[in-house]
Formats: sequence, structure tokens, C-alpha cells
Amino acid sequence: MSLIVVGSMAFDAIETPFGKSDKIVGGAATYIAWCASNFTAVNQISVIGGDFPQEELDALTARGVSLDGVEIKKDEKSFFWSGRYHMDMNSRDTLVTELNVLEHFKPIVPDSYQDSEFLMLGNLTPSVQMSVIDQMKVRPKLIVMDTMNLWMDIAMDDLKELLKKVDVLMVNDSEARQLSGDFSLVRAAKTILGMGPKYLIIKKGEHGALLFHEGKVFFAPALPLEEVFDPTGAGDTFAGGFIGHIAKTKDISFENMKTAIIVGSAMASFCVEKFGTERLREVTKADMDERLKEFVQLVNFDIDLSE
Ligand code: AMP
Repeated sequence: MSLIVVGSMAFDAIETPFGKSDKIVGGAATYIAWCASNFTAVNQISVIGGDFPQEELDALTARGVSLDGVEIKKDEKSFFWSGRYHMDMNSRDTLVTELNVLEHFKPIVPDSYQDSEFLMLGNLTPSVQMSVIDQMKVRPKLIVMDTMNLWMDIAMDDLKELLKKVDVLMVNDSEARQLSGDFSLVRAAKTILGMGPKYLIIKKGEHGALLFHEGKVFFAPALPLEEVFDPTGAGDTFAGGFIGHIAKTKDISFENMKTAIIVGSAMASFCVEKFGTERLREVTKADMDERLKEFVQLVNFDIDLSE
């Protein structure tokens, strides 16, 4: 019952209309691991510099995250990203991207990871994501990938090759529009599902997420929160909750994916409550159960169609 997570482990500096963080621990794979480790053992693949805090690595290990696949380049610096959010918190500008160790990242899948049944490809260069799939001796039961507009701008051909090899693609609404060249999300979904993935999840920030598969569509809302403190990592946390639930239940049916996107949405709602991974570190099973109940309340209604 294990899951490989591939992606960045990084330092971030975040500015929101409500505050500013120092250089804090971030990275897509860090968020995914903090979240998914609530549900399953995680086999992490990433690269970090000698500057990455040992306490963070120890905390992840204590949660059942294997770091055998995390390369440490002692004399180099970790990936650094800085972003600034606008008032609506749905849009942000990237201020700085320093690739550092990520520039020449060649992930190696350790032998001890080879029996992993699930693979979560966090946002990275498509060719790097592909190299992980290529190294798997047995194809995982389910391969899920995240990506971003940057790769559509500079590596579209590699991205399209990769899409033929994955089962589930996760993108936000603007990325779905860019990838398909279509403004209508329903038509965009049809086009993208024609590119390879069997399932497509389109994230719409505070407006929830849509799951498309064959002719079917399912919608999961985001929890309406009084205050969104820092949305960084919400997408990665969503991914961690989604794949974590699937890996825990080992059920890759459309019905179970519906539950998985509710779990992902619930976990993402914690992530945005504090800066960085802070909130995810303290979430308990009771917190998660309580929040899942709130989701059930949010979308549950009776309707009488007898008249
Ligand atoms: P999200 O808010 O879910 O889109 O993810 C934000 C996280 O992605 C931050 O913690 C960043 O460190 C990381 N990130 C930003 N840009 C990149 C990139 N080009 N490659 C890999 N990770 C990135």
C-alpha cells in the first residue's frame, strides 16, 4: 500500500495582502507528502540542497515518508520560489524562481520503491516526470500528474507525450483552457481526455473542482472559509488528499474518485488557513473527520420531483 510522490522540496517566500512570510519550507512534493502521509506510506522522490532543514526531513520521516529517493546535494542550494497574491487570493504573480538543485534534477527510483502501486507526479518539467514513469519496472495501478502553464509555454511536445502515459491529469481552469485552446471547460475536458488521460480534474480555486471521465462529470465544492490566509500549496495538498485516499482504499473506480476529490478539497481547506505547511502539520484525524462532515452538510439536499 504505498505511494511514490515526485516533486519539488523547496524554500518559498510568500506575500499576501494580509502578511508576508520569511523564507519558509515549501515545494509541491513537501505539501503532497505532509497531506498524503495522513492516509498511506509515502515514498518521496526529490532533490534538495545542503541548506534544507534537517528537522523538516526528520518530521517527514516520523510521519512515514521514506526519503531514500531524496537526493541531497550538500554544496548546492534548494529550489527557491517567491510569489505575491492579489486581494482575491485566486491570482498570484511569481516574483522569483531560482531553480538551483532542480536545474539538473535526474530523479532515481530506488529499488525499494519499485513495488509502489500508486504514483503522484507533482508539478515538474514533463521530461523529468516522464523519466520516473520510464524507470518503473511494473506500471503503477494509477498514475496521477499535476502540471502548470509554464510547461505548456516551453515544453508542450514533451507534455503531450507524457499525457499519453498518465491516468489522471490535474490542472486549474486557466491551464485547461490553455492546453485545449478552448474557453468552455466542458469542451476543454473533452479535448484533454482525447490526449491520453482517462480522468481529468479541473481545479477552480475557491470555486471547487470538477472531475471528468468518459461522458460523466462530478463537482466538489471548496469549503467557504471566512479567511484564506495563504493559498500556496493548496493544489498540491488537494493532490495529496486525492491520491492518499485512493492509495489507502486501493479503489480506482470513478465512484471512489468522487470521494477522493472531496477528501482533497477538505485537506486543501486546512492548508490555506496558515502560512506554508504549518496548518497541515497540526491537523488531526478528528479535524479531518469534522471537516468531511462539513462537506457532506454543504452539498446534501433533498428534492421532491413527484409533482
Ligand atoms: P501550488 O500553490 O499548489 O501551485 O504550489 C506551490 C508550490 O509549488 C510552492 O511551494 C513552490 O515551491 C512550488 N513551485 C512553484 N513553481 C515551481 C516549479 N516551476 N517547479 C516545481 N515546483 C514549483
